[in-house]
Amino acid sequence: MSIRFYNSLSNSVEDFQPVESDRVRMYSCGPTVYDFAHIGNFRSFLFADVIRRTLEFFGHDVHHVMNITDVGHMTDDSNADGGGEDKMESAAQRIKEDKKSGKVPEGAVDNPDDPYQIADYYTKAFLEDAQMLGLKVAFEPENILKATDNIDIMQDMITELIEKGHAYVGPDGVVYFSVESFDDYGKLSGNTLENLLSGAGGRINETDQSNKKHPADFMLWKADPSHIMKWDSPWGTGYPGWHIECSCMARDRLGKDVIDIHTGGEDLIFPHHECEIAQSRGATGEDAFARFWMHARFLMVEGEKMSKSKGNFWTVRDVLEGRATGINVHPAVLRLELIKSHYRSNMNFTKKGLQDSANVVRKLTEFRAKLEAAADGQTAEVTLDHPILKQFGEALADDLNFSKAIAVVLPWASSEIENPAEALAVLDKINSVLAVAPLGDEVETAADEGGLDVDALCKAMDEARAAKDWGKSDAIRDELQAAGYDVKSSPEGTVATKRLA
Ligand code: AMP
Ligand code: ZN
Repeated sequence: MSIRFYNSLSNSVEDFQPVESDRVRMYSCGPTVYDFAHIGNFRSFLFADVIRRTLEFFGHDVHHVMNITDVGHMTDDSNADGGGEDKMESAAQRIKEDKKSGKVPEGAVDNPDDPYQIADYYTKAFLEDAQMLGLKVAFEPENILKATDNIDIMQDMITELIEKGHAYVGPDGVVYFSVESFDDYGKLSGNTLENLLSGAGGRINETDQSNKKHPADFMLWKADPSHIMKWDSPWGTGYPGWHIECSCMARDRLGKDVIDIHTGGEDLIFPHHECEIAQSRGATGEDAFARFWMHARFLMVEGEKMSKSKGNFWTVRDVLEGRATGINVHPAVLRLELIKSHYRSNMNFTKKGLQDSANVVRKLTEFRAKLEAAADGQTAEVTLDHPILKQFGEALADDLNFSKAIAVVLPWASSEIENPAEALAVLDKINSVLAVAPLGDEVETAADEGGLDVDALCKAMDEARAAKDWGKSDAIRDELQAAGYDVKSSPEGTVATKRLA
């Protein structure tokens, strides 16, 4: 069966074939780590995860790499000239406030004026969230690359681009990429140098352009010894532009030539991915950087993009712990909610959607438990020719049609099953993509690690009750309930079970 994906480069659905026959090389733009990632960000990250899992479902070996943007960039970094405030400096101010409110726990970032501590704290938080939501690459430290660990390869690529005539040092000492040196600049986003000249997209600063050959020329390195994070370089002590990190890390980890798939949210098409293409192809001389460029549309809140800058965002923790909708949610439910609608449509985040996803997760989890009991230790082998897997696979191969894929699974999960061992193998294969039922190993481990010691709390509740310390027993019950547990008394003592939603 051919796998068909929408390619933003050709604006059409194309058959997917890897460049190398034995593995797919895939790169995903990861988070900036000056704050918690929000669930809109995770829509894009999980989109990458389900592309990977879909390819694995069909037997491909996937090498997936994701970056962590931890260099202290500027708030207007998507402008060709950068500018605005230093994101790390504004994060430092916010963290001081968040420590007072408890959002960032006391002791978490000892010194908010140290940008490495900030980046470290939010990188760990990202990885915890990503693991809870079953993002496979988050379990592969070797495939998660920090920008600050890769400054040397960025400097190497900048040198190479200067040598090849694609970059120059402006009179202001900034190293710029020359967009006129690269014929295909604008091909991905549908921009032309003419419309960029008139400032289309608002990406060109109104400021003095005399330092550059073309107003759309973008920054590769800026000497700025006063910048909060800085490195020595042939062009002065300073910091790299935002786009160069992805070109370098993809090339370093995935190979010097052409990769198969590059992903991100739709806002990255321009300028970020356009600039990545110019840099990478400028350096390699190849006719492509990635064969497939795939982008997830935004998660919206009341008609607006969920974004950090608008402040209309929910973090993963806000959703799981009930702050977003008033209901506690299991990570598997949030995962399903974020992957189930088509990635090329905007998605609205609603309580109703979460409840529907919870019903699906519950149904599949119960179905699996039933099959496991009926199979009674027997196992079976299945192939993709099994009728359910065939239909499920066809929906995935049709540009990741998850709602259709789920619509194949649900009636089957309600039907009479003759061979439970075989059905169990089918369900596990389906779940290798959905990763929701049973609440997959990764999901549960991470939730347990980051969560409460539930057994100890139940025991403490029993002890408090025995001592008639009702205040304490109520406080523990409240803590468990707030963390998403149903708390019941039983002859064996207190029992807490995780609510799905
Ligand atoms: P950032 O941490 O801001 O660099 O964003 C990380 C990823 O999330 C990028 O791929 C963005 O395109 C993506 N993204 C940001 N906001 C949204 C949103 N509301 N919905 C979906 N993806 C988003
Ligand atoms: Zn990137």
